[in-house]
Amino acid sequence: MNGTCGWPPSSANSASSDTIIRQRHASAGRNRARGEEFEAMDVLSDRYQSSDYDVIENQLHTEDEQLLAKQKIPKFIWQLEMKRWFVMLLIGMTTAAIAAGVDICIDVLAGSKYSLVASYFAHKVDDISILIPFFLWMGIDVVFVFLAAMLVVYGEPVAAGSGIPQIKCYLNGVLVPHVVRFKTLLCKVIGIIFAVSGGLAVGKEGPMIHAGSVVAAGVSQGKSTTFRRDLKIFRDFRTDHEKRDFVSGGAAAGVAAAFGAPIGGVLFSLEEGASFWNQSLTWRIFFASMTCSFTLNVLLSYYNGNPWSLSSPGLINFGEFTGIDYHGYEILLFLLMGVIGVCWAAFNAINYKITVFRMKYVYRGSMCVMEVIVIAILTVSLSFLSIYLGKDCQPVTQYVENPLQLFCGDGEYSASASLFFSTPEESVKTLFHAREGSISFLTLLPFCVIYFLLATLTYGLSIPSGLFIPCLLAGAAWGRLFGMFLHYLSPTPEVFSACGLYALIGAAAQLGGVIRMTISLTVILMEATHNITYGLPLMLVLITAKWVGDIFNHGLYDIHIELHSVPLLHWGPPPVSSHIKASDVMNHPVVTLNTIENVGRLMDILLKNDHNGFPVVDPYDETRILGGTFRGLIIRSQLSVLLKNKAFTSWPTSNEPRKRIQLDDFRNEYPRFTEIADISITDRERECSIDLRPFMNPSPYSVSKEASLPRMFRLFRALGLRHLVVTDGHNRVVGIVTRKDLARYRYNSHRNRGLEELPIVSI
Ligand code: ATP
Repeated sequence: MNGTCGWPPSSANSASSDTIIRQRHASAGRNRARGEEFEAMDVLSDRYQSSDYDVIENQLHTEDEQLLAKQKIPKFIWQLEMKRWFVMLLIGMTTAAIAAGVDICIDVLAGSKYSLVASYFAHKVDDISILIPFFLWMGIDVVFVFLAAMLVVYGEPVAAGSGIPQIKCYLNGVLVPHVVRFKTLLCKVIGIIFAVSGGLAVGKEGPMIHAGSVVAAGVSQGKSTTFRRDLKIFRDFRTDHEKRDFVSGGAAAGVAAAFGAPIGGVLFSLEEGASFWNQSLTWRIFFASMTCSFTLNVLLSYYNGNPWSLSSPGLINFGEFTGIDYHGYEILLFLLMGVIGVCWAAFNAINYKITVFRMKYVYRGSMCVMEVIVIAILTVSLSFLSIYLGKDCQPVTQYVENPLQLFCGDGEYSASASLFFSTPEESVKTLFHAREGSISFLTLLPFCVIYFLLATLTYGLSIPSGLFIPCLLAGAAWGRLFGMFLHYLSPTPEVFSACGLYALIGAAAQLGGVIRMTISLTVILMEATHNITYGLPLMLVLITAKWVGDIFNHGLYDIHIELHSVPLLHWGPPPVSSHIKASDVMNHPVVTLNTIENVGRLMDILLKNDHNGFPVVDPYDETRILGGTFRGLIIRSQLSVLLKNKAFTSWPTSNEPRKRIQLDDFRNEYPRFTEIADISITDRERECSIDLRPFMNPSPYSVSKEASLPRMFRLFRALGLRHLVVTDGHNRVVGIVTRKDLARYRYNSHRNRGLEELPIVSI
């Protein structure tokens, strides 16, 4: 059984995943030999394909529209719009059902684990027998995380991590293979249940965003390739463009489910994911988020025994912050906490180093599973040691889940146990709401350091793992410490707000410092705390943390994207790049096709080149003077459908195609088109010809050789292009530009390298 860790290679390439992992490993070795430290980030992989968001306005498309124009067109438009809303409704409800399922399963599994171990802790507190609950605890965690790791490594490697970097790539226009497949969803959902129940420093919130996106990609297509079922509905949505819009809605619904933050969800999709946006899409995404939050609320309140009390809009509940106000002058202190974002740049730097190490040395399936088990053992051991050594006894209060008495007196519990012996969500709540003085400095300091290290080690393991909760928890710990320190310094306790508020600000600073989101995080935290007055401090601290962190490195999601050599197009072109022209960027000579092409030549070209787009040109005349004029663009997937359906002439001498192709022929195949190598073409068919004009896009975007890099970049970003053809003054094709050609220009301010050009390699 061969397992893999890390994002899988493109299915379009013939090399096996194992070969690619070896290549990646070898290239990391070469880079090391060159003595350059961060080389893994300095290349782009040619194994990622792009989405095509440009509408192909070919003859088929125009004829289809004309047909509708003769019919009752307002009815059609109305129906299409209604279908879009209906799909968003389904996305919201399905994501909520999955989120509720995950929450309930974790509640049952983790709850049973803690009750069982706690019952042993209750009786075995002398020096030797206390090892019994310790080993029991460790045994249960190891089994749980083993199952989570097996699902990822041998099931679907792309289900590892939070999934947010992969979804960000998807919405940017890069197809990370398998990222929105049903199998990925299954491994992600079951994996996160075991990973959280197994006590690792992970949250279930990030994976919900991935889950919502997969649901959206599946529901909106009305068919499942995995189950070979086509419901023959939503056929109009079988384009990259429509699917992307639904995936934005799914990601937003995921945030709404995770935090009970529907507006935060919309803003998350806007800030982190969507490259392309419009007003009606905003409405639909908001609708999906709201539906999701409401459905989850109904399901969870029913599960919690209070049907229709509607008090559980999200998976995480930060509790009520009522009665905790802040003074105006404390804003300066909050800003200072944002500046401590320097430490959170360290979080990213440490995790970066660990990830590079993993890519070089921990790349076989069995090694990845072993690594997860080792980290689980480390987590339990450090937690146990902290509980065992921490003699911080406090009277039992309402915010303590699974209170462990251990060496404390009756009616008391161990404060370190309340932090370490609990799910991360419960520990966050404890830090936000525990009474002043109920957690000592000596309990919080080791917790803060240990959890920080565990979180850096855990993110990037081969398990589904969210980053939000570990960051919130580590940040809440140091934030509370900061608050306690201020209270210690102040002559009267009223001078500073409650430590719980400082814990919240610390949590925001850490989260902002690690993932570098500002608007959406501010709103998510405001919605999760149900408190609008914290809006300003949260925004200030998040912006400061981002600014300070950005001086040192990128956000953690971007670091992971760069480590996987993804050709992501950022918000804007690299600065000072307008001197770079299309003639410098483009690839040439260009592989072109003739408007009327010979089937044999077409097959040979497609088999020999792995390009996905081909400019279509007039063939040269006999004098070889006229011709080569640019007529349109056709993509490989279209050619695959045409060849598979034998849309060429019946005889070499004939002019009529053997079969008339409809738009539905393309929709039925979407998104998994037949590989050209799997299409059988006889020798006689090779002699036939195919007229590409009805199928090609007759008006694709093109630029002159003089076009600057920023101009081409903006075209790609704004229109979601996949290919841009470069033509000369006579409209002849002289070059072609794809997203990889643009993404390889990068301004590297962190290593003072200025504008650099990354190579495109096969890793
Ligand atoms: P994508 O992978 O983004 O879906 P693609 O496979 O067509 O699209 P790339 O893999 O980005 O294109 O292209 C790799 C390199 O090949 C780029 O430098 C690009 O300019 C070049 N290229 C793409 N299409 C052609 C073509 N038809 N003829 C010549 N070079 C091409």
